[in-house]
Amino acid sequence: MPYRRIAAWDSGGHNAGMENPACSSAEYVAAAATNATLGSSSEAASLTDRFGRRVSYLRLSVTDRCDLRCSYCLPKGFSGFEEPENWLKFDEIERVVAAFARMGVSRLRLTGGEPLLRRHLPQLVQTLAGLPGLHDISLSTNATQLHKHAVSLRQAGVSRINVSLDSLDKACMEQITGRDSFGSIMAGLQAGKQAGFDPIKLNMVLMRGINDHEIMRMAEYCFKEGFILRLIEAMPMGDTGRQSQYMDVNPVREQLIQAFNLVPAAEELGGGPARYWSTADGSGTVGFISPISQHFCASCNRVRLSVDGTLYMCLGQEEKCELRPLLRAGASDTELEAAIRAAIELKPERHEFTTQRHKIIRFMSQTGG
Ligand code: SAM
Repeated sequence: MPYRRIAAWDSGGHNAGMENPACSSAEYVAAAATNATLGSSSEAASLTDRFGRRVSYLRLSVTDRCDLRCSYCLPKGFSGFEEPENWLKFDEIERVVAAFARMGVSRLRLTGGEPLLRRHLPQLVQTLAGLPGLHDISLSTNATQLHKHAVSLRQAGVSRINVSLDSLDKACMEQITGRDSFGSIMAGLQAGKQAGFDPIKLNMVLMRGINDHEIMRMAEYCFKEGFILRLIEAMPMGDTGRQSQYMDVNPVREQLIQAFNLVPAAEELGGGPARYWSTADGSGTVGFISPISQHFCASCNRVRLSVDGTLYMCLGQEEKCELRPLLRAGASDTELEAAIRAAIELKPERHEFTTQRHKIIRFMSQTGG
């Protein structure tokens, strides 16, 4: 074990069943400094957690703000956004991402909130794209602003995008997103296509009685347009997530297999938890994401960095580490790497969405979806 466990955990962290297992910056600066004498960045191997899972994927939230209020995500009237002075600055983001890349993280997804609300995002992408070790930069967006930024983001180094689209019905989209969003999303999707993002995946969160009648139509639309459809089970994150008319994705998969003669996809698509099925000629593909009915925690390869520099180990748990104070206290790269490595040891075995539905009060957009 390269780094020593620190007092914060030993005196009441994960192992002691602390309610909010987190490490304070002061403890981390101290621990990182100590650990820095025990290991150096040059000998850093890949990031592997206590359960032997290799962390190779970082999801980076560049803002917690969003122009939509999707019913399962962010509540209408929500105002508890992070203060701008607490947002990681671009040079701070670059330092953290570079540290992850040195430790074997090769894939990065920009997310939020709505990432396109962060000013000068293409400039950040261009910098990150130049980091050694980082091979894949993708983006999750609601696409309302994509028509303005598609070309610059593609040129800067974003290769592929995921777009949230829960319905093809304008009124239904207004009901789900809390705003008249359909036209701008459609314009964004077309701009994304023209800019050459490949693939473009459409994320549809399944909600019984809200959009379940549209699944077949959505599949046909995606097959026609060349988009990959991904059907997602809603997670009980915050009150919004818990009130989201959850639907099990498994019966839906069976229906789609029957309707379109789907077969398991030959190619692995993306580095995530979706299981893909394709039409026989490969022209249409659907991914099924089942965090609730069949969780995939045993193969989880990711951590999330929120806009304020908090590193979250799991969407469905509280383990986290605040990197911003460390960055602003002048930590060296070696200390930063040591803190990240130590934080990875906190990664829990699995979420508890099914057994502790009320545990997570953070909305998805606060963590970074
Ligand atoms: N604004 C961007 C977007 O719309 O894709 C990125 C952030 S959004 C939080 C990322 C993804 O999280 C979206 O696909 C959204 O549908 C999904 N999401 C949000 N809340 C969720 C929940 N409670 N359960 C499952 N997925 C959720």
